[in-house]
Amino acid sequence: MAARMGFTVGIVSNAFWATSPQDARAALRPFRKKLNNISVSSDLYHYNELVSRQAKEAAAAAGAFGIAVGTISVARPEETNVEKVSGQLPERLSGVMYRGRAVEKLVSQAARFPWEQFNTCPHEDLREPGRVHLDPFGNLHLCQGLVIGDICDQPLRLICETYDPESHPIVGPLLAGGPAELVRHYHLPHEDTYADACHLCYEARRALRERFPEQLRPDEMYGIY
Ligand code: SF4
Repeated sequence: MAARMGFTVGIVSNAFWATSPQDARAALRPFRKKLNNISVSSDLYHYNELVSRQAKEAAAAAGAFGIAVGTISVARPEETNVEKVSGQLPERLSGVMYRGRAVEKLVSQAARFPWEQFNTCPHEDLREPGRVHLDPFGNLHLCQGLVIGDICDQPLRLICETYDPESHPIVGPLLAGGPAELVRHYHLPHEDTYADACHLCYEARRALRERFPEQLRPDEMYGIY
């Protein structure tokens, strides 16, 4: 439907369905000439090898159908810690962003830094977002758990046209001074150190959820299932 409407369509998947060449082709065949690209997650969080058999089968099937393929591989915290010292991650790996499940499961292994230094959002263009995420409940996210509207209540076009970053209670402070400003602005209790900007941002947002339930949802993004 999105392809018919003229959107460039991509999928992110762990390719669990690509257990054989036949299964991989069967799963991707309906997307032929509709899907622009597929990004396959494959790393030691998803499988017990860096490039899984499923990732290889999915890539082969996508190639056969003319669908561009990319791989998303996330480094383990110990490798990310090395990157913070040497400035280089192992080839093809990207660093953990400490939000959601990554905070619950991995932050204890991460190097930590003073909270005041996280004075900008390093990953999202919050003022002029070039993309948004849509979850199965209809929430439109700038970043996972940071919501600007609900497409079950309002059309996407209207949400985008009326989005005012400065008056958004979370985005406003983030633009003014990153996650550290979120803490200052709302006088939030905090620790001395955090793993990265997203870790501080996530913890600050979690502390603000009762106050801003419309902007900080759904529960699943905050580890509540
Ligand atoms: S968690 Fe916060 S700091 Fe990290 S990308 Fe999202 S909005 Fe930016």
